[in-house]
Amino acid sequence: MIDNKVFDLLNDQINKEFYSAYLYLDMNNYFEKRGLAGFANWYRIQAMEERDHAMLFYQYLQNNDCPVTLAAIAKPDKEFKCDMDVLQAGLAHEEYVTSLIHNIYDAAYAVKDFRTMQFLDWFVKEQGEEETNARDMITKMELFGNDPKSLYMLNQELAGRVYSAPSLVLE
Ligand code: MG
Repeated sequence: MIDNKVFDLLNDQINKEFYSAYLYLDMNNYFEKRGLAGFANWYRIQAMEERDHAMLFYQYLQNNDCPVTLAAIAKPDKEFKCDMDVLQAGLAHEEYVTSLIHNIYDAAYAVKDFRTMQFLDWFVKEQGEEETNARDMITKMELFGNDPKSLYMLNQELAGRVYSAPSLVLE
């Protein structure tokens, strides 16, 4: 049995992860319009990863016989005035998601829900990687974003990102 508070947070996290997917799709949309297909590709794959995260929370609750409640996904409301705005919004969002994961962990820890803590371990590590990736994007943009030739190269590099399913697999 999963504690009520832990359940509510896990159930909410399904929605938060789908919102993340929506937000990254919006970023994909921004870069498509900008004509930077490599950046657009990077954010499209990011959106797919977030969908995968949502499905992991969904599957985890189903596996533990918890009835999931699906809520409406919020509209992405960020306005991007320039490329750097998008990258910084990405980092801020990942920092926010890290705080959400830590908050669930905290609730699970308080009731000695070791199974949920073990499930969340993967997400704790994943968030570290997401923040690093978001910071790297900002650093690269700071270094190369103002020079058209370098931006072209960076766009080419990001075009090479390919989707891979999450390493965490729930039966
Ligand atoms: Mg996520």
